[in-house]
Amino acid sequence: MNRILRYALALTHTVVGSVRIEGDAVIIGVRPWKRHGLRCPVCGRRCECYDRSPSPRSWRAMDLARSMCFLEYRTRRVVCPDHGVLVESVPWARHKARFTRDFEDWVACLAVRCTASAVTELARIEWHTVGGICERVYAELEAARRCDRFDGVRRIGIDETSYKKGHKYLTVVVDHNRGCLIWAHEGYGKAVLNLFLDELTREQRRGIEVVTADGARWIRSLVKRRCPNAKWVMDPFHVVQWMHDALDGVRREEWQVAKKAARDAMPKHDGPGRPRKGEETPPEARALKEVADAIKGVRFALVKNPENLTVAQRDKLDSLKKRAGSRLFRAWELKEDLRAVFKAGSAEEAARLLDAWLHDAAYCKIKPVVDVEKKVRRRKDDIVAAVELGIGNGRVEAINNKIKVTVKMGYGFRNTDNLVGLLMLRCSDCRPRLPGRPEMPARKKAA
Ligand SMILES: [Zn+2]
Repeated sequence: MNRILRYALALTHTVVGSVRIEGDAVIIGVRPWKRHGLRCPVCGRRCECYDRSPSPRSWRAMDLARSMCFLEYRTRRVVCPDHGVLVESVPWARHKARFTRDFEDWVACLAVRCTASAVTELARIEWHTVGGICERVYAELEAARRCDRFDGVRRIGIDETSYKKGHKYLTVVVDHNRGCLIWAHEGYGKAVLNLFLDELTREQRRGIEVVTADGARWIRSLVKRRCPNAKWVMDPFHVVQWMHDALDGVRREEWQVAKKAARDAMPKHDGPGRPRKGEETPPEARALKEVADAIKGVRFALVKNPENLTVAQRDKLDSLKKRAGSRLFRAWELKEDLRAVFKAGSAEEAARLLDAWLHDAAYCKIKPVVDVEKKVRRRKDDIVAAVELGIGNGRVEAINNKIKVTVKMGYGFRNTDNLVGLLMLRCSDCRPRLPGRPEMPARKKAA
């Protein structure tokens, strides 16, 4: 029995002492092999025993069919000459973890591929504990990586994203060539970006050819100083994002107007309250309300790329098109025209398309779009340079959206290191391994 358990749970360097059933869980008493015990969890050196914990500690292991399984062991503390008094390391789990190594690897694989609710339901753990698991798994993968992750990085994108309703910031760096995340850290500004540049060797910094970022000038000056060979260009993703924001602004304005018109068309009655019983809504008021609802419902169809629209979303856009003189539809057309600039085959074509767009946008009489036009005009050369260097919008958008989704997933985590762990596992080229399997199959590449 003990041999079967040791095999099923892949316990190495471990002695299985006892097995019992408690409630619907299987509890397995274990201890490390003599020469694998009493080791410092940080440096792995064999140390003197300090004391032994009075009660056993337990680790959640992979489920045995339908029952949960725990390993139990009374840990000792060791005195390491370098690291002080610490709980000894055990062969089946990582330092400070309450789960076995296999269990953590499995949860990390789930977190990379599933939604938060699916992970918690499958693994029967709280979502915030997944954060700690991601951090530990990522730290180990990063330490085991043989080649330097910044080697051969030529084109990078720097971005700052806010989360927790703008209370916290995260600086992320993506590699445009590989289309993946390479660095993430809490906070924003010069100090944080310097942390990233400090991690690069002199050769790696000199090897960087292109840096994309949003409009911030300080990034430009810092990059110029520390990466002498880099060309600074505008990030296409941000330019399109400005237009998305403007489009949403126009939609909200139109919705307010339509809502007010619908309300005014309702028959007036004395005093506040709902319409009286038996009172009919006049057909023109109903029609106006439908218009208002249609504008409200078109929100996601507007910002989605036309090639990804669902049939229902396409219908909504078409109904918008039919209404004569729709400001919202004009703004949408301008958004698509701006996106087309980044799909241009050459710098000349991009410059021509951008000039045409600037002209159209300047005369469209839609205030939010005109504001974007002014911003774009100031950075015209940087935008054309991005197209010339082949930094398209597609890949950048794909990785940015993935980062956004992941940041949203990590909302419930206790600290930012947990979030960074999840981000790196999901968006970088670092892959957690399913326990006992060679490697996770490669995921479909972002377009
Ligand atoms: Zn030590």
